[in-house]
Amino acid sequence: MPKPICCKCSLEMRIYHTGAGVVELYGDPEKPSPYKIWNGDEYQCPKCKDRVVVHFGNNPRYHFDTGFAKQIAYLKAQDETPVYWVPEKYIPE
Ligand SMILES: [Zn+2]
Repeated sequence: MPKPICCKCSLEMRIYHTGAGVVELYGDPEKPSPYKIWNGDEYQCPKCKDRVVVHFGNNPRYHFDTGFAKQIAYLKAQDETPVYWVPEKYIPE
């Protein structure tokens, strides 16, 4: 599996948190809505401390349906799981 490299420091990033939640947003750019939930691994540069989330699976952990609001609430309630909200254009297909 490819390992992320910090472009500023030319150092291999280290695992910071496995299972980071990433919520894909969809719709109006001014007021997007949650659409998919992805899991990824969060890495951090040992020098500059920049972080990235990589290693997404091929499919989202959860896709919008009638139980989606409960999944979002569950994700927000997880104190130890970092959650990032990103527009869909930044999620790999
Ligand atoms: Zn760095």
